[in-house]
Amino acid sequence: MDFGLTEEQRIMLDTARDFSRSEIRPLANQHYHQDQRIPAAALDEVIKKANQLRLLDYYFPESFGGLGIEDRTIACLITEELAWGDAGIAVHLMASGLTAKAIDAMGTEDQKRQWLAGFTNPDNQPVLPKVGAFCLTEPGSGSHVLGLSTSALREGDHWVLNGTKMFITNGGRADLYIVVAQTDPKAESTPERAAGLGAFVVEKGTKGLSSSSDMKKWGVLASNTTEVVLENVRIPVENRLGGPDGLQGGGMAGVYETLEVTRVGVAASALGIARAAFDEALAYAKQRVQKKPIIHFQAVSHMLADMETEIQAARLLTWKAAWMAEKKVPFERGEGSQAKYYASEIAVRACLKAIQIHGGYGFMKEYNVGRWLNDAIVYRIWEGTSEIQKNTIARYLSNVES
Ligand SMILES: Cc1cc2nc3c(=O)[nH]c(=O)nc-3n(C[C@H](O)[C@H](O)[C@H](O)COP(=O)(O)OP(=O)(O)OC[C@H]3O[C@@H](n4cnc5c(N)ncnc54)[C@H](O)[C@@H]3O)c2cc1C
Repeated sequence: MDFGLTEEQRIMLDTARDFSRSEIRPLANQHYHQDQRIPAAALDEVIKKANQLRLLDYYFPESFGGLGIEDRTIACLITEELAWGDAGIAVHLMASGLTAKAIDAMGTEDQKRQWLAGFTNPDNQPVLPKVGAFCLTEPGSGSHVLGLSTSALREGDHWVLNGTKMFITNGGRADLYIVVAQTDPKAESTPERAAGLGAFVVEKGTKGLSSSSDMKKWGVLASNTTEVVLENVRIPVENRLGGPDGLQGGGMAGVYETLEVTRVGVAASALGIARAAFDEALAYAKQRVQKKPIIHFQAVSHMLADMETEIQAARLLTWKAAWMAEKKVPFERGEGSQAKYYASEIAVRACLKAIQIHGGYGFMKEYNVGRWLNDAIVYRIWEGTSEIQKNTIARYLSNVES
């Protein structure tokens, strides 16, 4: 076991860290300390710069225009650094990756060639990449994925989609929407519903596709979130991922495969927030004097010791799950869920402690730690709530031989 970084890992880490310090954190501070939204044009500039540095497409195969970096530890390093700068901006930069992962996990080779291309930047240009949205959640179905009611019905050479998707990141601004829908109107049992699920590519501008305005949130403020409505959306049969008849065994396996892997990235983002909160709390505890620097009060230093230990533990879980995914070692104990569950929980705890260490200043918008608490909380909710992660871990454990 070697915990040192390779030269390539170090280079990518330094690139992401420099970018986060010089571009992401200052932009967030400039606007959020004044309680303002970051203008879309300023966010576009950050995306272009990140794209030019290849921080957005490094993991795509070279054949699709990416850098072909398969090392998942690099993905963890980059993600943690970007989220350290500001989680909302990081989500805005990276959310299309979920769409790309879905195409990669469920698409045929032809579909990957057709739809992955615009997500990459082989010529290192300062341009906006293609934007994607992954549409799974619905107003009436979140954790219970199989309860979704968006339908996809075959009519000759087309699929016709109807339904409403909820809380969709990049809704309204995406070029491509991956819509998970039920193809079997008669499906009732769990296996039938799982087999009937399909994932469909709907391109921006398709008749019948619309989205609400950006929903108002407590955290990850730079990222947009909308409802997405599909009203008699007709798409060619070729737009079903996995081919006209979909994936063998149904779409649920593809959805799980997509989320199992992206969960590791979600864990790395939560870790970035936790580390940001720790860094600010440590610096503050050293310089804030109440008779003596407050770090010398055991109650304060123990909070920092807890934060540090939990961050290190979360990072190890995250890196291990990343390593397993990269080496195709199957998760046997829900390792992806363990990482996502633990990292998001400790991120919330780290932010609460950071606010406490800052005293009254921690409650002011001029300081970051209160905002980061709101950012951290959503990590316990999206891509499977903490409760669902525990269900998943328990499901794996029930199959482990003792
Ligand atoms: C900012 C934001 C962005 C998002 N972006 C996207 C996106 O791009 N695409 C997308 O598809 N979705 C997205 N989501 C949706 C997110 O994944 C869901 O909110 C999440 O899966 C929870 O679903 P829900 O909100 O319907 O909660 P519910 O499923 O209704 O859960 C409510 C509560 O009940 C608990 N619960 C539910 N079922 C169980 C169970 N079986 N066992 C134990 N407890 C249970 C939950 O843990 C939770 O505490 C986003 C959400 C947010 C907040």
